[in-house]
Amino acid sequence: MRLDGIHHITAITGDAQANVDFYAGTLGLRLVKQSVNQDDPTVYHLFYADEHGSAGSDLTFFEYPGATRGRPGAGMVHRVLWRVGSEEALEFWAGRLGAAGVEPERTDGSLRFADPEGLAHELLIDRTDDEPLVADHPEIPKELALRGFDGVRAYSADPAGSRELLEAALGYAVRDSDFEVRGDRRGSLYAYDPPPPERGLQGAGTVHHVAWASTPADHEAWLQRVLEAGARPTPVIDRFYFRSIYFREPSGVLFEIATLGPGFAIDEDADRLGEKLSLPPPLEPQRDRIERGLAPLRNPRKSAARA
Ligand code: ZN
Repeated sequence: MRLDGIHHITAITGDAQANVDFYAGTLGLRLVKQSVNQDDPTVYHLFYADEHGSAGSDLTFFEYPGATRGRPGAGMVHRVLWRVGSEEALEFWAGRLGAAGVEPERTDGSLRFADPEGLAHELLIDRTDDEPLVADHPEIPKELALRGFDGVRAYSADPAGSRELLEAALGYAVRDSDFEVRGDRRGSLYAYDPPPPERGLQGAGTVHHVAWASTPADHEAWLQRVLEAGARPTPVIDRFYFRSIYFREPSGVLFEIATLGPGFAIDEDADRLGEKLSLPPPLEPQRDRIERGLAPLRNPRKSAARA
């Protein structure tokens, strides 16, 4: 029983349209689902991923309109790591981000930048044999596109305190001073950095949680294993697109373990993903009221395709 790397990463935005413009426009990801936060259906939950909505490439945002900016602190993920294919891809992204008004920082083998709300990203050259998870975008050649997550970096003052849960219960392996979790299909890095002195504040531009991928068959067993390790998981929650449990690992980072499937094509054609508001069946009776409360979104992928 092994976790298959990152399933998805969920962050917070204060401006859904600007968020779509950046992630589906500038970064060239596919908006694969427009839905609502199932725990607060008055706000958007937007999902970006590769062309197929694959786990391992899925960055999602809750929108709290006008939310003030947060800042990452101890017990929070502070940077999202992505894979690209080559140095040439890093150069391409340095140019494309620069032209979009983002100021990327180029170092050997990596490119760091922040989204318009301050969420930090880093592009790294892919050193794995994992399948590249790529979205189509008319301005971005496939070989230069983002290939899915490489991992996340979190702030912790006591990484050793998390080690037993990560290694013994969840099956992470120590790689240099970082952790890697790898399943049959793919793997991801989980790394810690010393926290800044200021306390973290959850808000726009911060990561809410990171989800790790489980086969549907193993999911209940992961719940048991997390319980036995002394963490306090939620019961299994049916998120319609996948099933989930949530718990905090000892550093304070909110973890989720989510199933691989049923996936985003459960309620939309695979070639029409993300084009309209999708609601899980229990929320469907409230569709009219929910839609009235949400500002419609323009998807830059459509305008780019027409240009
Ligand atoms: Zn989640």
